[in-house]
Amino acid sequence: MILSDISGTTTLNNGIEMPYLGLGVYKAKDGNEVKNAIHDALNLGYRHIDTASFYHNEEGVGEAIKIAEIDRSEIFITTKVWIDDQGYENTLKAFDTSLNKLLVDYIDLYLIHWPVPNLYVETWKAMEYLYAQGRVKAIGVCNCLEHHLETINAQSVIKPMVLQNEFHPRLVQQPLIDYCSKNKIQYEAWSPLMRGKILNNPTLQKIAQKYHKTTAQIIIRWDLQKGIVTIPKSVHKNRIKENADVFDFELTQEEIQNINALHSNERTGAHPDHFMEHFNK
Ligand code: NDP
Repeated sequence: MILSDISGTTTLNNGIEMPYLGLGVYKAKDGNEVKNAIHDALNLGYRHIDTASFYHNEEGVGEAIKIAEIDRSEIFITTKVWIDDQGYENTLKAFDTSLNKLLVDYIDLYLIHWPVPNLYVETWKAMEYLYAQGRVKAIGVCNCLEHHLETINAQSVIKPMVLQNEFHPRLVQQPLIDYCSKNKIQYEAWSPLMRGKILNNPTLQKIAQKYHKTTAQIIIRWDLQKGIVTIPKSVHKNRIKENADVFDFELTQEEIQNINALHSNERTGAHPDHFMEHFNK
């Protein structure tokens, strides 16, 4: 793993290069807010943007990428198929809608947003079809546990390349990460900063003081040193810059263990086995 600067990538199980650090845009408003955030991020060297149809900002993401003077092949775009669009045909339609909104002719990574019971295997088959057509460079899932991945693997041809899950110092789930590395599935962190709820933690503050960094930077560096792709969200230029300024120090193994030990199985979002209630479905 080369982590010398923001251009560092991980090689997915199909050979595609995915940048370790990206910009999340959940809750970034469509229009100027998301466009400005992406403009700033691209200028600061980010080349990876994580959106979803559910975020209702794919148009803004697409416009920001279109006006940036950067070759499409240099930008890694992730989007996701939402709960209401699952099943084979619906997924194909949702993909076309996302592609049109994003103003691109392929997606780098298409993810199942949540594994809808009785539908996610069919959804996965549509993802395999899109992948075979070359309209998406990599496919994966979000919000899955080992049993979801085993179900997909048992009924499909192509293994997920990425698992994007809630991951931060309060929700480490090391056995699931180990399962993914054993099965060559890249683990990716959503809500890496726990939406700001863990930034005052004394363990993180102590490490931050040592390196003259912020606690957000310590968490992002911890993600990267654990080999986890991370997509902190901000719409503020100073924070977008801060979150990428993590390549001039290295945490010790002891510090990594101390952060791992903050795990308390606490979530900001829904549990992968109970999300339908969370979204009132
Ligand atoms: P994050 O953990 O990235 O936290 C984002 C919050 O932290 C925002 O309120 C942001 O505020 C603030 N923040 C960002 N940087 C800093 C900083 N350096 N110092 C202090 N505060 C900071 O949460 P998200 O839930 O947004 O997760 C990241 C991304 O993961 C999402 O944007 C989305 O792309 C993806 N995601 C995927 C999910 C899935 O189901 N697959 C679910 C949820 C998220 P501000 O913007 O005001 O700066």
